[in-house]
Amino acid sequence: MKSLDDIAAALQGYDPQALSVQQVGDFLAQLTYPLPASEAQDVFLFDALGRVLAQDVISPISVPAHNNSAMDGFAFDAAQLQADQPLTLRLAGTALAGKAWQGKVNAGECLKIMTGAILPDNLDTVAPQEFCQVHSDHDVTTVTIPPKLLKAGDNRRLLGEDLMQGQAALQAGQHLTPAALGLIASLGLPDVRVHRRLRVAYFSTGDEVMSLGESPREGAVYDSNRFTVFGLLTRLGCEVIDMGVVRDEPALLEAAFAKAAQAADAIITSGGVSVGEADFTKTMMKKLGDVAFWKIAMRPGRPMAVGRIGQSVLFGLPGNPVAVMVTFLAFVRPALLRMMGSSAQPAPMLRAKCLEPLRKKAGRTEYQRGFVSSAPDGTLQVRTTGNQGSGVLSSMVQGNGLIVLHHAQGNVAIGDEVDVMMFEGAI
Ligand code: AMP
Ligand code: MG
Repeated sequence: MKSLDDIAAALQGYDPQALSVQQVGDFLAQLTYPLPASEAQDVFLFDALGRVLAQDVISPISVPAHNNSAMDGFAFDAAQLQADQPLTLRLAGTALAGKAWQGKVNAGECLKIMTGAILPDNLDTVAPQEFCQVHSDHDVTTVTIPPKLLKAGDNRRLLGEDLMQGQAALQAGQHLTPAALGLIASLGLPDVRVHRRLRVAYFSTGDEVMSLGESPREGAVYDSNRFTVFGLLTRLGCEVIDMGVVRDEPALLEAAFAKAAQAADAIITSGGVSVGEADFTKTMMKKLGDVAFWKIAMRPGRPMAVGRIGQSVLFGLPGNPVAVMVTFLAFVRPALLRMMGSSAQPAPMLRAKCLEPLRKKAGRTEYQRGFVSSAPDGTLQVRTTGNQGSGVLSSMVQGNGLIVLHHAQGNVAIGDEVDVMMFEGAI
């Protein structure tokens, strides 16, 4: 495990007083490690949604297991097709889905076949029934297939075209989506080996922060950060350990950090990490762990503490409610995904036309709360959602994404395209 000093030494131009967003990401990628596969567990498929695969899923069978028909129609050997002539074949029988047809289809014959039914080895093509004319005369039924509509292999599903036996159907690190659950079920596998859930403890600090249920006092604010952090972690699939609000007393803070480090893979705190803080949060982090205190070239979310306490990774987020969410989305989320064993790449940012001018200082990354919608011409457009103060949650609620104004970028004019990191509406 690398110490913070090791990581810092290897990082180009590391300056804790002026880190770029890019450098923070690079640093956290060095600080965090995936959960060991030895702690993985087998879970039933119905319990596996959103979990991360701990090992490849090897297909025990081929899917589909046989060549089969993709349509209701008539199966035949396409070698008999002639360029300009209709083809008339005698009907040899009917193949239903779910059981193999017993019998032989000779030259000059075809087989009525249902979608999904096994295609006999000597037949390679299915003529959809709506193309064909069927004629019955006593015991003999004939089927006429018109010319030029079909070629060999049409409407045939090939053995193993979805998956071949022995191949990795899914790879370790894959998030189990609804489609992935269906794929695993199609292999006949009732359970799957996933990483254990990442355990994340979180608490809020600051004497001005009240828990819900306390009667309001002058100068104090209700603790909203615990609820945004709870929501963000739960959506990510983490096991959350809520530790409440911790008052600004050394003994209480020490006990809280010790308990969190014992119980969790990661600890998230909010508040008490900015410059000039009179409280004990920073002192205690420094005393108990290997922790760096950063000023990041970004807005909102400038101060942040990062490091390790015991075996746990610490993310000491700023106190302002929007700064908490922005630093979580920008840094904590990718770091936790890595710890969860996920190989997911960050979702690509959208490009949207900005409907208003934005003032932006080069040399820092700015995140503005925005609402992305479709313009009448089908392209994407984005507007900001009002007051961008770092404590203003209502503009966060009204937004569905963060407009990301990159480090070197300057002012934005009306109609300029900007990057947007979506945080809602992506499910
Ligand atoms: P700090 O980073 O501790 O200087 O906090 C900055 C501001 O964020 C404070 O003035 C508080 O108003 C606010 N704040 C801190 N913690 C919380 C919290 N848990 N919930 C809501 N607001 C908070
Ligand atoms: Mg404070």
